[in-house]
Amino acid sequence: ERNYMKLEFISKSSNESFARVVVAAFASQLDPTIEELSDIKTAVSEAVTNAIIHGYEYGEGMVTVEATLENNQIEIIIEDKGKGIEDVDKAMEPFYTSKPDLERSGMGFTVMETFMDKLAVESKVGEGTKVIMTK
Ligand code: ATP
Ligand code: MG
Repeated sequence: ERNYMKLEFISKSSNESFARVVVAAFASQLDPTIEELSDIKTAVSEAVTNAIIHGYEYGEGMVTVEATLENNQIEIIIEDKGKGIEDVDKAMEPFYTSKPDLERSGMGFTVMETFMDKLAVESKVGEGTKVIMTK
């Protein structure tokens, strides 16, 4: 049976762990292994961090996290209404970062791709970014 949750919070770094724990608690209904749960937490953490530090780099905004459980799978959508990404393909390349000065490694999307089964990124400059992942 399908289950669904939605969480909305302001783009403060202190909310990253909060979002990660909420999604993990919701996902535990699927009876995942410790490793699967850890993968989900890692991917959520990367996407939420991106929304906070890149999406809203010029000011605070709202981050939305949605999760759907269906057919023993979880789909997670993380969305911001921030600055958006000009070139999504380039942004998703391993080691690409627009902030090399801030000790970013440019591995966030690669981590999401590795730890989840599916990853899709939709973005429009000036409108925001939506990350959709499934496991
Ligand atoms: P790391 O995640 O390793 O700390 P990073 O965040 O720069 O470094 P990725 O997470 O792979 O690396 O993201 C690559 C680039 O995509 C970012 O540097 C940023 O330019 C852009 N980006 C990612 N998410 C967003 C977002 N939500 N809004 C705007 N730009 C984004
Ligand atoms: Mg990142």
